[in-house]
Amino acid sequence: MYIIQIASECAPVVKAGGLGDVVYGLSREMDGRGHCVEVVLPKYDCMRYDHVWGMHQAYENLYVPWNGGTIHCSVDCGWVHGQLCFFIEPHSVEGFFSRGKYYGEWDDQVRFAFFSKAALEFLLKSGKRPDVIHCHDWQTGLVPVMLFEMYQYHGMANQRVCYTIHNFKHQGTWSTDILQGVGLNREAYYGSRDRIGDNNTAGAVNFMKGGIVYANYVNTVSPHHAWEARFTDIGCGLQPTLDVYQDKFGGILNGLSYQVWNPETDSLLPVNYGIADFENKAVNKKALRERLMLGVNDKPIVAFIGRLDQQKGVHQVHHGLYYSLAHDAQFVLLGSASEPGLNDWFWHEKLHLNENPDCHLEIGYDEELAHLIYAAADVMIVPSNYEPCGLTQIISLKYGTVPVVRGVGGLVNTIFDLDYDSDHPVEARNGFVFSENDSYALESALGRALNLYHQKPEDFERLAKRGMAYDYSWKTPGDQYEGVYEHIRHK
Ligand code: ADP
Repeated sequence: MYIIQIASECAPVVKAGGLGDVVYGLSREMDGRGHCVEVVLPKYDCMRYDHVWGMHQAYENLYVPWNGGTIHCSVDCGWVHGQLCFFIEPHSVEGFFSRGKYYGEWDDQVRFAFFSKAALEFLLKSGKRPDVIHCHDWQTGLVPVMLFEMYQYHGMANQRVCYTIHNFKHQGTWSTDILQGVGLNREAYYGSRDRIGDNNTAGAVNFMKGGIVYANYVNTVSPHHAWEARFTDIGCGLQPTLDVYQDKFGGILNGLSYQVWNPETDSLLPVNYGIADFENKAVNKKALRERLMLGVNDKPIVAFIGRLDQQKGVHQVHHGLYYSLAHDAQFVLLGSASEPGLNDWFWHEKLHLNENPDCHLEIGYDEELAHLIYAAADVMIVPSNYEPCGLTQIISLKYGTVPVVRGVGGLVNTIFDLDYDSDHPVEARNGFVFSENDSYALESALGRALNLYHQKPEDFERLAKRGMAYDYSWKTPGDQYEGVYEHIRHK
């Protein structure tokens, strides 16, 4: 099959979170199965150009219809760790992708509506006719809308769309003016509730709803989250739409690219290790302590890596930090906040704890440091309020770092409590899980993990190794996506 992914991220060249990992990992998996895969991205000024090889111009004069006029774009292409990617660069005063950041601008919806339009225009003009277009999240929700309402009449009648939702919280709502912008000129028709009119706000369109209504197949990134989205308020207002389109909606658990995330081969680690030479994990722990100037002692390192966002349970992270320090453990945090209040809060904590030899808070985004923390830590906490799939717990397992998670979304599908999971035999249990969203629940699970570490170190090591043996590669999700692609291309 010929597959084109249209997305706002692809790791490591553009990565803000799990979306980037998934676009890259799935592309490589499909490529490995003999399919032809290409990725179309915006050409951001701030992306990691050091991860692109052989960048050159692929299309010189792409004129993208926009707001009744056109915007001149060019398209570059290059290889990102084996993956062919196309980067669309608009040359207009708005500077859509030259803002020094990927997201968080006042006109994000306009920027990504333009990108969706430009991506389709690029496919049309350059003669690319994939069997399947795979788009992701609200940023590219308008792609299937435009494909099936416009571009199919210009020679793209055979393309089919798989649409994957990584986060229901951000849906991309904007006033109906945007429809004129992209050339969907019958505002009342497209903006109606049974098409892409927002379910809650009159006069607004919802990009994600567009993806759900128009794509041939829609999924979110774990089976449990698919259920939550339909039947709880996690669907953030899209429950009625998912109900209508339930026959084409499902959950496919994300895979992890073990070419990137594997302690046996990870070139970012001081020392590689696997189950057979697990003792080498301690060398990485020593290296992290040196790098962050942490005290050298017998304590376990409890870590958190993730966006400092309400979604990630920041209050629980904060509580976990102090709980760890009070219970004979060190704590390391790597996270960045886009909300100023949360940023200030964690900066305040960082300054407050500056002299504490058992604690380090690194506020910012650092891919390389993340690898070292996964390898060095003993315990990873993931106390999310909601979690569509979650990659940090899956990466932690591979690195022999025991996850302590809240049982929501994809965490339910991946982590099984050592003491209480009655659905899995003891040999299949791989971490600690708590249910309620309060500090007592976190304490009970983290406390059990720390107790095991201190009281029964051999059992703790056995648990860590068991996690390393788990297979959360792209193999199973690759089979599932391949099945979806095969199914929709013949529709
Ligand atoms: P989300 O997509 O909601 O942010 P996921 O758990 O699906 O969360 O994926 C998070 C990915 O981003 C993981 O690869 C994690 O290691 C990485 N990550 C998150 N925050 C940081 C950070 N501050 N520095 C480096 N990597 C980070």
